[in-house]
Amino acid sequence: MTLEELDKKYVLHTYARDYTNFTYGVGSTLYDESGKDYIDFASGIGVNSVGHGNEKLANAICEQAKKIIHISNLQVIEPQAKLAEKIALLYSDDVGVFFSNSGAEANEGAIKLARKYGEISFPKKRYKILTLENSFHGRTLATVKATGQDSFHPSCFAPYIDGFSYVKTLKDVENALDDETVAVMIELIKGEGGVAALPKDEVQHLVKVLKEKNVLLIVDEVQSGVFRSGEFLASQVYGIKPDIITLAKGLAGGVPIGAIVTPHKDVFVAGDHGSTFGGNYLSTAAGNTALEILNNIKESGQLSKTIAYFEDKLQTILKENSDKFEAVTGLGLMRGLKAKSSEIQVKTIKQSLKEGVIVLKSGNNTVRFLPSLTITKDEIDEGFARFEKALSNI
Ligand SMILES: *Cc1c(COP(=O)(O)O)cnc(C)c1O
Repeated sequence: MTLEELDKKYVLHTYARDYTNFTYGVGSTLYDESGKDYIDFASGIGVNSVGHGNEKLANAICEQAKKIIHISNLQVIEPQAKLAEKIALLYSDDVGVFFSNSGAEANEGAIKLARKYGEISFPKKRYKILTLENSFHGRTLATVKATGQDSFHPSCFAPYIDGFSYVKTLKDVENALDDETVAVMIELIKGEGGVAALPKDEVQHLVKVLKEKNVLLIVDEVQSGVFRSGEFLASQVYGIKPDIITLAKGLAGGVPIGAIVTPHKDVFVAGDHGSTFGGNYLSTAAGNTALEILNNIKESGQLSKTIAYFEDKLQTILKENSDKFEAVTGLGLMRGLKAKSSEIQVKTIKQSLKEGVIVLKSGNNTVRFLPSLTITKDEIDEGFARFEKALSNI
């Protein structure tokens, strides 16, 4: 059987897969089985924050694997405690962290924490959560319902979890609150919904409104977090301190991990929440090393240079292809190029892969760029040269 036949026979068909067989990567360059190279502007949907084949990360994983991969959360786990401390020191010393294995699972935990807060803080329980249209919060039954896109709620999976409703913009939040609303959950930059960054003044106003009404703000930073915005958290770019922040994708450089970060440290008590794998030795050892690498490139100024260079390239592409695209969107190294039609979007992504540069789809006809944060100037140059060549063939 070919690899494609094997996959089709034995793996469930939940993805519309491409069958390029990548065998290894170096930095932001991937190689397929025929030896053809590709510039990776997708980094596994924002997961490979420190690139492919990163020696420091590989060594940390290897060293940890030789000692202990896993012991349950019934014991204290040294790299877990250290990673929690690192996250707090990069953000705010008053927060506590719970580790899970994915973004959806982190959001599930955030929803549970908010609902318990709603139970213990008010005479009449609050449990409803407002989210934004075109948001994306995950694929579990609760987080898919939190996702403000009807196409994610087909009747075949019903009944869904109660208590979620959607608003079009942040300006609509105030009117939509009622005495049972416990939280508002948002992405500051909508990853799947067109890489659109929310207006800063609207976010800061929302924070004020929610504080007055004692409603929690949950910020889903599964995609925007871990230095992708240029700061450790996009919340820091916006100058806000949400009640709950969730992280995942880039946090351990590709090893599955998720995290809930909150100053509400006394809501959960022993037994309220848990995970078998969450925060184990392997993932948190990887997380500690990934954060060290990423904090170094931030502190040295390299990250902000990369962001400026990447943005410059995108603006040039936009200027020279104004027949195909209408805007550069997003923040930091979480970027979109909004196409004038879905046909242009789809063709751009397909043709790019052919030319040897990997880019992603997002909503609103947007071509999405999520390069690893360690991408070099040469890789950016080469990737955009290939991207331009792809565009000239559309
Ligand atoms: C990817 C993503 C999720 C889901 O994360 P998984 O690890 O796939 O469960 C949730 N929220 C946002 C904003 C995401 O980008």
